[in-house]
Amino acid sequence: MSTDKKRIPETGQDPEKLLAAMESFKSGDARWKEGRTWSMVYQVDEAHNKFLKQASNLFFSESYINPFAFESLQRMEKEVVAMTADMLHGDEQVAGTMTSGGTESIFLALYTYREWGRKAKRGCTEVIAPATIHPAFEKAAHILGLQIKKVEVGEDGKADVEAMRRKIGPGTLMLAASAPSYPHGLLDPIPSISQVAQEHQLPFHVDACIGGFMLPWVEQLRPELVHPWDFRLPGVTSISADTHKFAYGAKGSSVLLYRSMAYLRHQFFITTDWAGGIYASATLLGSRSGGPIAAAWAAMNSLGRQRYLELAGQVMAGVDQLKAAIESIPELDWIGAPCMNILAFATRNNRPDIFVVADALAEKGWYVDRQQRPNCIHVTVMPQNLPVLQAYIDDLRSAVAFAKANPNAKAEGNAALYGLMARIPFRGMVAQNVRKMFETLYGNPAEEDASTEPEPAKWMGWANRLLSFNPFRR
Ligand SMILES: *Cc1c(COP(=O)(O)O)cnc(C)c1O
Repeated sequence: MSTDKKRIPETGQDPEKLLAAMESFKSGDARWKEGRTWSMVYQVDEAHNKFLKQASNLFFSESYINPFAFESLQRMEKEVVAMTADMLHGDEQVAGTMTSGGTESIFLALYTYREWGRKAKRGCTEVIAPATIHPAFEKAAHILGLQIKKVEVGEDGKADVEAMRRKIGPGTLMLAASAPSYPHGLLDPIPSISQVAQEHQLPFHVDACIGGFMLPWVEQLRPELVHPWDFRLPGVTSISADTHKFAYGAKGSSVLLYRSMAYLRHQFFITTDWAGGIYASATLLGSRSGGPIAAAWAAMNSLGRQRYLELAGQVMAGVDQLKAAIESIPELDWIGAPCMNILAFATRNNRPDIFVVADALAEKGWYVDRQQRPNCIHVTVMPQNLPVLQAYIDDLRSAVAFAKANPNAKAEGNAALYGLMARIPFRGMVAQNVRKMFETLYGNPAEEDASTEPEPAKWMGWANRLLSFNPFRR
């Protein structure tokens, strides 16, 4: 963050006043408690939240930097891993660790296969994955010196298995796919990819960060929506499933499972010559609060299979209600065949402009997730959304009517910026401008150039000029 001439106060301030001040900082935040967000915060209810905080507080100070120092945390991690492995049909060979979140789980899976491959797959650095795979893969590959070979998805929006097979070459390290994809909630054809992985003797990571703790229940409730995707398939060698999403734990926790220790052992880092002694670690972080581990353990044990099933039933009923509404609005359609409580919807042929619809929704106080390729709106139906679902549907209906009645309305402000970014053909320039926004956010304003124009406005002027330049016009 910008340093903005702040210093540590000379004398400490009153805790009560500080708490009140921090509470007031939240006034401009996305209103997740009122169900106004459709991603990011995954909630059961206030009572569960209160219990999670108690559980987390019990281990607030303990540090899991050394699992041998805190048997309590070691025990809870083992039990969370075992319960997750059981839920995902793993046998007693399945082994894993808890991490700080989906990104760390994915990072470690790629790291582990890289290390595993040092002998068996010398020089192989390519990860073949559908184009809809989560950016955490690209980020991890970037850091680890691996490459994600993205394969365009099929007409149905799911991984194109034959195209993935064709991409396999002498440099291929592993395969990856999603259960389901984050943008559209589509379950990749994991059974066929599992077969391809077996035929080519490649490791296969299934990213179930968002689906891991939802699909097992949806499979029971709506078997037509969910085919096997977990350790039942012999080609699946690892799975990431976030406890801070639909296990309804606290933020900062995820489970990473491997089919056997033959893989997991490559994740462990050990150095023996440091002055501080022998240093060993199972995951990426060093010092690490026990809170998220405790909260995940508490969530799983307090909710139990019955409550998970019940909650899944409730959000799926919400999905039905939303789908019925989308079906009744002729301009709207959802994308593909979503397998759980995530879907994305668009306007047919983008008429009227879906980003104008998004603006009209934002105007009504909804936090809207705008997506690209194709332009659409992302929705995760969570328990906290259910009480306001009908209000959202009503606002969606009038937002579409407004966009339809105002065909010349352009998406405005940040939404317009997003629309522009989606359309600019030169992705390097888009990246450069986003990097600039981050520099502004994290940099020292005193060092910024003299221009007072806010960054998005500058960028929009620039982008508009670029878009009006048509190289094919004579
Ligand atoms: C959330 C998510 C991730 C990344 O996890 P973080 O917890 O945000 O680090 C990866 N893949 C999918 C499908 C996700 O939903």
